[in-house]
Amino acid sequence: MERKPIYFDHAATTPLCKEALIKMTPYFTEIFGNPNSQHYYGRESVKAVDEARDTIASLINAKPNEVYFTSGGTESDNWALRGIAHARKEKGKHIVISPIEHAAMLSTAKALKKEGFEIEYMKVDEFGLVDLEHLKSIVRDDTIFVGCMMANNEVGTIEPIKEIVQIAHEKGAIAFTDAVQAAGVLKIDVKELGVDLMSMSAHKIYGPKGVGALYIRNGVKVESILTGGHQERMKRGGTTNVAGIVGFAEAFKIAIKEIDDNFNYVSSLRDHFIERILSEVPFVKLNGHRTKRLPANADFSFDFIEGESILFSLDLAGISVSSGSACSSGSLEPSHVLLALGLEEALAHGSIRFSFGKHNTKEEVDYAVEVIKESVKKLREMSPLFKAEGDIKYV
Ligand SMILES: *Cc1c(COP(=O)(O)O)cnc(C)c1O
Repeated sequence: MERKPIYFDHAATTPLCKEALIKMTPYFTEIFGNPNSQHYYGRESVKAVDEARDTIASLINAKPNEVYFTSGGTESDNWALRGIAHARKEKGKHIVISPIEHAAMLSTAKALKKEGFEIEYMKVDEFGLVDLEHLKSIVRDDTIFVGCMMANNEVGTIEPIKEIVQIAHEKGAIAFTDAVQAAGVLKIDVKELGVDLMSMSAHKIYGPKGVGALYIRNGVKVESILTGGHQERMKRGGTTNVAGIVGFAEAFKIAIKEIDDNFNYVSSLRDHFIERILSEVPFVKLNGHRTKRLPANADFSFDFIEGESILFSLDLAGISVSSGSACSSGSLEPSHVLLALGLEEALAHGSIRFSFGKHNTKEEVDYAVEVIKESVKKLREMSPLFKAEGDIKYV
């Protein structure tokens, strides 16, 4: 039988874990009730959703009534930013976010700018870390929202969220974090961090696609963006995705149970990979921070070649990876994250993101290194740029 390609794109999505699938199955067929219905089928669904909410709340040290289910990270990000902007517009119109946020945040910020909000961006250093001194200097009395992701989806940098929250709160701003890449991977205690809102998504942690949550600290006022029925304590309309929510809670529970083992295993694969690439491939740059980094992430820029062409040859060799983020690839724009880190356009074009998972093996990683060495060499031999500069650099 033909071998399935190797999957190194876990930051884009993960396979559903068997435990979650098994737990979800009855909620598609037997226990299919609408939780809004006042009968047996409805009540059984309510029970399942309540239990999932309790589970997720306890995993991040929140109260169950602070967890709101959504259709995923994108909706949670939209809701947090738009919902706070609209609820607090009398207090001010100044919003501060990082320049390396997910498109769900950046495009919502752009839309709010058209409505008359003022959007200002934090500064990040060459590793993608937020410059806290700069942040302090731009947060003002009329700043209503300060938002930064907990870990970046493209280069994996882990941000100092607790410090960012403190700076926001000193000026009375609401503090938000997008924890889609972090929840289930890093230990999160919302009370310890002090955040007011936090986005999560199931499909990045071996849960189902199309379901996520927004943590909203009790007492924080957020306007609804999805108006409809009385679901989610009147804050988010739409028939509840019972099976998805059940699968999300189960996947999250397993992720937390295995958190140390997965962290150690996946980061050992990543470190082995990074070491080999940096020592065996010339003219390559590791993007992001070396240690403050998601365990799964290795993002490289290869000089003289387009990320897309490496991606193509890896795909041919049976290795599935992303150039930059799944969302920006396909557009021919260089990555906004790498540009914010100060990379030149050419290097920002030549980046490839490898994101490992708990089912990957060291053999797969070693195979990938061999393929990369071979393809990079071939592609560079065809590159006029490399021929011009290569002779000089290869002494
Ligand atoms: C994947 C991702 C999102 C979007 O989540 P979806 O559930 O796919 O909508 C948002 N933010 C970050 C950091 C992500 O990695």
